[in-house]
Amino acid sequence: MASREADVLIVGAGISGLIAARTVLAAGLTPLILEADTRVGGRVLTEDVAGLPMELGAQWIGDTHHRMFALADELGVETYPQFDDGETSYEIAGTGVLRGNEFHDRFADELAELEKVLRRLDELAAEVSPATPWTAPHAAEWDAITAGAWYDAQGLSPVARTLLEICTVGILAVPTVEVSFLHLLFTIQTCGVTSELFAESEGGAQTTRFVGGTAEIPKRLAALMSEHIVLDSPVQFIEHTADSATVHCRGGLTARGRRVIVAVSPALAGRIMYDPPLPGHRDQLTQRMPNAAAMKAFFVYDEPFWRADGLNGQLISDIGPARMSNDTCIQGDGHGVILLFLEGEQARTHGRWTEADRRAALTAELVRHFGDQAARPLHYVDGEWADRQWTRGCYNANCGPLVWTTYGDALAEPIGVIHWASTDTAVEWSAYMEGAVEAGERAAREVIETLG
Ligand SMILES: Cc1cc2nc3c(=O)[nH]c(=O)nc-3n(C[C@H](O)[C@H](O)[C@H](O)COP(=O)(O)OP(=O)(O)OC[C@H]3O[C@@H](n4cnc5c(N)ncnc54)[C@H](O)[C@@H]3O)c2cc1C
Repeated sequence: MASREADVLIVGAGISGLIAARTVLAAGLTPLILEADTRVGGRVLTEDVAGLPMELGAQWIGDTHHRMFALADELGVETYPQFDDGETSYEIAGTGVLRGNEFHDRFADELAELEKVLRRLDELAAEVSPATPWTAPHAAEWDAITAGAWYDAQGLSPVARTLLEICTVGILAVPTVEVSFLHLLFTIQTCGVTSELFAESEGGAQTTRFVGGTAEIPKRLAALMSEHIVLDSPVQFIEHTADSATVHCRGGLTARGRRVIVAVSPALAGRIMYDPPLPGHRDQLTQRMPNAAAMKAFFVYDEPFWRADGLNGQLISDIGPARMSNDTCIQGDGHGVILLFLEGEQARTHGRWTEADRRAALTAELVRHFGDQAARPLHYVDGEWADRQWTRGCYNANCGPLVWTTYGDALAEPIGVIHWASTDTAVEWSAYMEGAVEAGERAAREVIETLG
């Protein structure tokens, strides 16, 4: 049986684990990452489709993702702006397909209602500390209701309520009845304000893309420390004492270290066996932070024909199957690329269809919005995440009612020599790559401090 030794063992070579390893290394300690998959990157996955990088996982960063901009700069990964020129196409509340200007004119009052609710959400989120949401003055009240119940109580018109649901599911990737209102406010607060989160594309979290694909980030990070990474080694069992840990991987590898950083989502962290067992308080938390459900589907055309028609490639629909889309053409390449998002119930349902049926349903939707040319793609690819054993759903983990106020303090609190990373434990841009970096740095700092 192979065995390795290091100061700090790290479970998972997603961005969070890679950043934790790099930070530990910079402090003069030896890290060893044990990664289940045969690649690094986790929820970052760029797939080559006829020579074009398709982002089946994370794709964008936003203007306030300072850690990710700095990381890209340091690694020499160039960025380019997201295309955002033209009108969005809407089909909401039985109106049929309407272009953006017409939709905005017809539903100006409804959009004003929506704006008012978003401002109210910003006010309430300002009361929530992202590091300790359970300490907010109204935490008990807000954690006892769902985000959906709070939305329903705002007296919104059907159009405004539908738009609010679509843009929230676009962030959380679960229906708003599945998360507590406190969790929604936490999510808003980790990102700043609703305008950062809910922007259709301009501003917000989706302004910028990476040349060559997002996977350049984890790949180049890994290349800096390849001798400290073991792939294809799922961690199954962690034995821990007051000053050491032994990690056992499928395949027989055993690694011994002074500290462990578990850099996987809470649900997957809960599937590892620990000896001695973790306190019930922590286990109850990991039983209650399920990963959400989202899929991305890409259609590649010989050109971005919608642009000539004054459209920006975005659609917003309550008919679906996709609720939203985006123009994701690649800088310097002439092909047209449209990305459709299946999130929450849409991902759960259509993720179980055959690829051919899913593609046909999405094609019909694209034709409604962008015309017959949309029926003639050169390539199609989509990505399901719940089936992937080492992710089991995305974009992130969410909390239903009473989870934050009952178990929230167990999310990032170390247990003996075991520390927790992954974007799901972040307090800035939790759920995003920016949060993965923040959490990896934080967990590494904790370890460095305890090891002196
Ligand atoms: C479809 C999709 C779209 C997204 N879009 C964006 C976006 O546009 N912008 C953005 O900022 N973010 C986006 N995200 C979120 C972003 O990808 C994540 O926030 C980030 O990559 C999480 O990194 P992480 O290191 O915390 O976790 P992960 O990437 O999940 O890394 C965990 C790693 O641990 C490994 N692992 C799991 N279990 C074990 C085990 N038992 N033993 C050893 N290894 C294990 C996994 O294989 C994985 O490599 C998206 C995610 C998805 C899936």
